[in-house]
This record gives sequence, C-alpha cells and structure tokens, in this order.
Amino acid sequence: MTEALRFDGRVAIITGAGNGLGKDYALELARRGARVVVNDLGGSGAGVGASTNAADLVAEEIRDAGGKAVANYDSVSTREGGAAIVQSALDAFGKLDICINNAGFLRNGRFEDLTDQQIDAIIDVHLKGAFYVAQPAYRTMRQNGYGRFLFTGSASAMFGHAWQANYAAAKGGLMGLSHVVAIEGSAYGITSNLLMPTAQSRLADEMDTGFMEIPAFAQSVTSADYAASADRIEVPFNTPLAVYLVSEQCASTHDIYTANSGRYAKVRICAADGWVAPMGSTPPVAEDIAAHFGRICDSDIHHEPLTVYDEFTAVAKAARRQGVI
Ligand code: NAD
Repeated sequence: MTEALRFDGRVAIITGAGNGLGKDYALELARRGARVVVNDLGGSGAGVGASTNAADLVAEEIRDAGGKAVANYDSVSTREGGAAIVQSALDAFGKLDICINNAGFLRNGRFEDLTDQQIDAIIDVHLKGAFYVAQPAYRTMRQNGYGRFLFTGSASAMFGHAWQANYAAAKGGLMGLSHVVAIEGSAYGITSNLLMPTAQSRLADEMDTGFMEIPAFAQSVTSADYAASADRIEVPFNTPLAVYLVSEQCASTHDIYTANSGRYAKVRICAADGWVAPMGSTPPVAEDIAAHFGRICDSDIHHEPLTVYDEFTAVAKAARRQGVI
C-alpha cells in the first residue's frame, strides 16, 4: 500500500488558483495539510479585468473545510506582482516550499494575424509571469534547502495546435525554464517539472473561439477516439499528478509529464542516434546530409540528453556505434 502523501508543514503558492486546474490543486493540497496562497487576478477567460472574488472564494472554501489559506490578487504578469505573491506566503506562513505556476489565459489568432497585443499579453502572463513568481520563490527555497516547482506547459507547445502560436511559444519557453531551474536547483534540494494538463475548463472554452476549422494536418483524432476520452477531460483528472509531482516523496526533476483523460505519461525530448560525419576538420556538404537523411531521422536508437554536456556524450556514443571513432 502506498504511503499517504501529506503536506503538513508545507507552504504552497498556486497562481491562477481561483478557477479550473489551480483551484483544484489548491483544494487538494490544503486537504492534505498544506498551507496555501491562493493567487488569482480574477479576470475573464480571455484575461480581461480583475476581481478579488475568485481568490477569496477558494481561500474561504479551504478555511471552511478546516484548512489554512490566504488569498492574493496580484497579477503574475509584473515583477512587482510576482514579488508580492511570494511575500504573501512569507507574511502569512513564514516560508515557502511549493510553487505551482499555473495562471494564464488565451488570446488565439491565426499566426499571420497575431498582433503585438496578443503576443505580449500571452508571453507576459505565461512565460514572464513564471519568471516573476519563480525567481523570488527560488531565492527563499534555496535558503531553506528545499523546494518543489511545477510549471504548467501545454500540448499546444509540445505537440502543436492551430491558432496558438503566441501561447505555444510561451508554453514552450516554460520547458526550457523548468529544465534550467531543475539543473541549478539540484544543488539546493529544489526540483522542477513541467505538467501538460488537459481539462474542459473556462480556458478550454476560449480554445477554438472563432477558429473552428482546423487544418487537415492537425485532424488526426477520430471521433471514436475522442469520444472514448470525452467524459474524462475534466479538471480533477489532472490533480493527482500535480500533487504527486510537488510532494516530498517525488524525486523526479527536469521532467515533463502529460495528463490527458486519465492517462498519465512522461514526455521525453530525445535526439536520434543520427549520422556522424567522417572524422576530421572538413565539414560535410549539404549533399552528404541529403544522402544520410534517413539515418539522421531514424529514431530507433536515440538519446535523451539532460544537459548540453550530455549531448557531447551522446555524439561520442553515436560515433563509436557507427565506427567513426
Ligand atoms: P482557468 O481560466 O480556469 O484558470 C486560469 C486562472 O488564471 C483564472 O482563474 C485566471 O483569473 C487566472 N489568471 C489569469 N491571468 C492571471 C494573472 N495575470 N495573474 C494571476 N492570475 C491570473 O484555466 P485552466 O484551464 O485552469 O488553466 C490553468 C493553466 O493550465 C493555464 O496556464 C493554462 O494555460 C494551462 N493549460 C490548460 C489546459 C486545459 O486543457 N485546460 C491545457 C494545457 C494547459
């Protein structure tokens, strides 16, 4: 029997916890003993406006159930907002152990039509917002020698989705951010992972607004496959993985996970064994690449480098395997 995952004595910040996924993470962590900062700006699904309601209601729900929570209404999209969110954890609970960067919204549009306003707002909330909260969070975790970061990625970035170039670019950036936090944080008891959730939430309602025709390239799911998952594309199906990833028991770091319709899986970034050019200081020409393109793309043998240095090791292994060295 697996030991119960408890968070007694732990302090967690969850950004965008007034609705959807963040709300469910906050309720579940509090139910398991964590003291929680419920952050939410309280705007619409498209990120317009602000209100104290969203964060207040969730913090109240936690307290009514006997848990400990404070509400915070700062925007993650500014450096001052990020600092204030972390400060509210320190003011209310004296420390910080867990930081779930989850706040966000969508501003979809065709790639060629996206305006600066659509691009900037999305980069600000998802990518820069994660920096603004995670940097002060990291400093306090580093001092304490313990921390759990969970960044919220998206299948739109890792696999691709039409009309979301701004969002996919921001979410893709979070993968790099999480990797580096994991590497730098490894010396201080800090882990960092990226979760790609899937849920029929308020945000999902914004998903295809006004852009219902999906390019043929992206139409791979059959209606039968989709129907098989349909009643499990719900917020609570994501929460168990998020909770496990920020628990003390979870040693995973530098990893990416997907939760989709009750299927939980690690996502890996791999490089094929590839083709190693003959040794020497003369580079190959484009025709050599064309001649070996099948091998370059063949991922039967592949490597999963965890740092840029690891890739040199992978290259040496490939060169040995191919008899080049
Ligand atoms: P949601 O709209 O239900 O919740 C997002 C919350 O973030 C809202 O309560 C909103 O007020 C808050 N927020 C927005 N801007 C903010 C800001 N500047 N500062 C503080 N709070 C702010 O959406 P959700 O589906 O629960 O999404 C949560 C996260 O999961 C988002 O990062 C989203 O991109 C990501 N995600 C969702 C799905 C999905 O299928 N729902 C898929 C992949 C990724």
